[in-house]
Amino acid sequence: MNANANLSSRALETDVLIVGGGVIGAAVAYELAKAGVQTLLIERGELGAQSTRAGAGMLGAQVEMMNPGPMYRLGVASRALFPNLRDELLDISGLDMELQTPGIFRVAVDEADRQELLARLAWQQEAGQRAEWYEDDELRKIIGDDTVSTTYGALYLPDDHQVRNAALLLALVASAKMLGANILEHTAMTGFLVENGAVVGVQTLNGPIRANRVVLATGAWTGLLGQELGLDIPVFPVKGQSFLLDTFAPPTPYTIFTHGCYILPKRNGQVYVGATEEPSGFDTRPELGSLAKLSGQAVHLMPSLAALPFAAPLAGLRPGSRDGLPVLGEVPGVPGLYLSTGHFRNGVLLSAITGRLMREVLTGAKTSVDVEPFALYRS
Ligand SMILES: Cc1cc2nc3c(=O)[nH]c(=O)nc-3n(C[C@H](O)[C@H](O)[C@H](O)COP(=O)(O)OP(=O)(O)OC[C@H]3O[C@@H](n4cnc5c(N)ncnc54)[C@H](O)[C@@H]3O)c2cc1C
Repeated sequence: MNANANLSSRALETDVLIVGGGVIGAAVAYELAKAGVQTLLIERGELGAQSTRAGAGMLGAQVEMMNPGPMYRLGVASRALFPNLRDELLDISGLDMELQTPGIFRVAVDEADRQELLARLAWQQEAGQRAEWYEDDELRKIIGDDTVSTTYGALYLPDDHQVRNAALLLALVASAKMLGANILEHTAMTGFLVENGAVVGVQTLNGPIRANRVVLATGAWTGLLGQELGLDIPVFPVKGQSFLLDTFAPPTPYTIFTHGCYILPKRNGQVYVGATEEPSGFDTRPELGSLAKLSGQAVHLMPSLAALPFAAPLAGLRPGSRDGLPVLGEVPGVPGLYLSTGHFRNGVLLSAITGRLMREVLTGAKTSVDVEPFALYRS
């Protein structure tokens, strides 16, 4: 099926229609295609061009989690899927998600930060995770004397890996297509097709598409789309800005993460510096003031960055949710409609488990993780 197809000349029909071609929609499409489910994914613009393009690609199941709740368990379960997923996608499509495994140093910037990280070290070790503490002088022996400014010590998380988002997205999409999924870019959903209270498809700018099940994987825009059906979907945009630097020799192979700023060496030779977190509307343009502040923080943390050429600014709308947890599964009271959204700061990390869970939900299988904490109407 070609992008830009004129749908109005023929009524398109599919079993499952996924709306939204970011990393979440792509992961769901891949899992459904693998299970032999007839799947069509539509994307308003270009695949992966929104939050997914702006994201850093950390699989931060430990660095991002403040307590051992459902989000932590979901993150750890998802992170564990990546090595196999990398091999699977490589086998099917020949494309590599560029998984990097040296781990993350979460650097303490002051005494309060140090105490919070030491508490995290304790509960994460108790929960069975690998986590180690390095004092400033020990850290320098590992990453080099001049790599970072003085710290209050660092929490080392050897199993928090990273991928390159664009590479992961391409590998998921290509594999989904190889397994039979259809993908249409430049096809914007404008409304729902509803019959007898059930969603039976969507209206697009290119014509109607009928489907037995519709999955909204529309990121920060999902709350808006739900309004047509009178649904209160608690998902909204939280802008994140970051930038890429060019280098052939990144200052360190490790991800260095601290309050409000993290630095990731990428396998393609670039260094990713992120990220702001700002309540926002739907404007996705990068802003000078935010990037100036972020670059100041980055150079303070890692002075050698100041000499690197600027490659590109990035900005995206994280799909925030009211309690910070994703929203996954069916919409009670609206047969035919499913949600896969609200992944906020961790959509790349959670993409693997989300694809799997949505496939399990849509095929009526027992879910491998309890999805109740992620239900639309959770307690
Ligand atoms: C600066 C920054 C850094 C980040 N760092 C990390 C990180 O290190 N690790 C991590 O795990 N996560 C990170 N994230 C978060 C992660 O990028 C997101 O959680 C993830 O990309 C969400 O994926 P998504 O597919 O839900 O959303 P998106 O990528 O935004 O995709 C949603 C898609 O839906 C499409 N769409 C919307 N409305 C319609 C419509 N009406 N019709 C058709 N299509 C529609 C959009 O065009 C878009 O392509 C970061 C995000 C930002 C902004």
